[in-house]
Amino acid sequence: MHLGDGFGRTFKYLRLSVTDACNFRCSYCLPDGYRRCGGPGPLTLDELRRAATVFASLGLRKIRLTGGEPTVRRDFDDVAAMVAAQPGVEKLALTTNGYRLPQRAETWHRAGIRALNVSLDSLDRETFRRITGHDRRDEVLDGIDAAFAAGFDAIKVNAVYMKGINDHELDAFVALAKDRPVGVRFIELMETGDHAAFFRRHHLSTDIIARKLLAEGWTPRLKAADAGPANDFVHPDYRGSIGLIAPYSKDFCKSCNRLRFSSQGKLHLCLFGEFGVPLRSWLQSDDQMEEFRDRLVAAVTRKTDGHRLAHGLTGMTSNLSAIGG
Ligand code: SAM
Ligand code: SF4
Repeated sequence: MHLGDGFGRTFKYLRLSVTDACNFRCSYCLPDGYRRCGGPGPLTLDELRRAATVFASLGLRKIRLTGGEPTVRRDFDDVAAMVAAQPGVEKLALTTNGYRLPQRAETWHRAGIRALNVSLDSLDRETFRRITGHDRRDEVLDGIDAAFAAGFDAIKVNAVYMKGINDHELDAFVALAKDRPVGVRFIELMETGDHAAFFRRHHLSTDIIARKLLAEGWTPRLKAADAGPANDFVHPDYRGSIGLIAPYSKDFCKSCNRLRFSSQGKLHLCLFGEFGVPLRSWLQSDDQMEEFRDRLVAAVTRKTDGHRLAHGLTGMTSNLSAIGG
């Protein structure tokens, strides 16, 4: 059985948010830091197990752990090992700000994580501190080295591209891909409910980067049918690749192959959707898993053809830490 919607898209990729808490204060996400707002905590290990089992049984072969910062969970290693062990899960991935990578890369690889996205918005120590609120650039860079040593199948570095903040660092980021098979990806800043003014000040189209890459001998890589949202470029003199993620571009949603499940147990059909379908009540005991599955299948048919970001409609998302980017 597979999960599909009314637009011919089938879903093989799940972004599973395991917490909305985070220790960083990225200017475009949680500039004032994470504040716990009452209510139930994040899904427990058992709730996550039931959800992961059902999603995997419905053909979601790739699962990415995200947050908030997923690795702030005390039981993060158990969560990772549990998801990796679900029958049907072919690839377990993690998106992290990298602060625990130097010490934990090997353990997480052993737990079954195979692909790693590390967020790194500046290679300049002071700019990194200003963006994230933490003087930890060196740790993140050491973490990337540790990840290579641990033997992950795929390592990507994600930078949110921001006018007046890190747009002058393009060459330094591209240089990261020179001698290592790393995917360096520039993500266009997305508008969220909390940060309309920041967006207006700092949003920049990644078209500028595409033109620069083409002029410097990079060529677009053909996209595989089940590829993610990035348009990748390769160069004969570089071992790595450069990817551009441009959510405001035409047709960005056409090939959307992902679903999102929040740390509160809501199914989000689009990062910028108007609603999350609350499904936590059906994760309370193993007996409910069949009903959870039926509700999931029904909910997915409500996915719309695309977001309405270009019209300034950011949906219910106040910032991406809540759903996981
Ligand atoms: N804390 C982890 C991290 O930062 O990698 C995982 C969660 S974070 C919400 C996932 C990704 O979303 C990060 O790469 C982050 O830079 C990106 N992100 C957050 N807010 C964004 C925004 N407004 N526009 C574009 N990317 C954003
Ligand atoms: Fe935390 Fe990631 Fe948001 Fe930065 S982008 S504040 S690291 S959740």
